[in-house]
Amino acid sequence: MATDELNAHADLSALRDAVSGCTRCPLHATRTQAVFGSGSPDADLMFVGEAPGFHEDKQGVPFVGAAGQLLGKLLNGIGLQREDVYIANVLKCRPPGNRDPQPEEIEACEGHLFKQIELIRPKVVATLGNFATKLLSGKPLGITRVHGQEQTVTLGGSRVVLYPLFHPAAALYTPRMLEVLESDFSRLPELLGRSVAPPPPVPAVRVAVVPEAAPVPAEPVQLGLF
Ligand code: URA
Repeated sequence: MATDELNAHADLSALRDAVSGCTRCPLHATRTQAVFGSGSPDADLMFVGEAPGFHEDKQGVPFVGAAGQLLGKLLNGIGLQREDVYIANVLKCRPPGNRDPQPEEIEACEGHLFKQIELIRPKVVATLGNFATKLLSGKPLGITRVHGQEQTVTLGGSRVVLYPLFHPAAALYTPRMLEVLESDFSRLPELLGRSVAPPPPVPAVRVAVVPEAAPVPAEPVQLGLF
């Protein structure tokens, strides 16, 4: 592994340790633990959600609840596993009762996310929902307006493709939103600039196969003798 990469891994691990003891905002007082991020530190694709929920706060891993299951399925649908990508959130600590992040909490926490992006250097950052999209685009446009529209931005000192997506938690309860999320998701391989392996075939339901009738040989033409 190249020295740069080794240094970035070490710096990411040091950042994780620093975030685990972070007291920059009052959320540290109510968290079980900080939820730093998970996945490959060399990922080309990074997802940024909103904030840990109940399960994430307990387990210390982002997107492990129902929304996370959906994210996993969407990833599998484009031939990727969670371990192939990096997953993080705007806030590293759970807002009590899963309320929306407050502007001062985002301001206190955003430095951690920008540093993560700088160390991981992904090609594509897919923002999940309004909070990540507005923070990383630097624009107030909501997710309904901008989902599925990629833009090139500078984040953590590098040019990256920012790709806003509906938040999987919202798509869980709104079938139309799920359709749009699936359709937007299907463009990720193209944005990553490579074709990813198609998902493994779903085992087919066994059906009785009726053998095709053997072709009937053409009737030999009987030539008349006379
Ligand atoms: N929703 C988020 O935005 N992040 C998580 O980690 C889980 C749910």
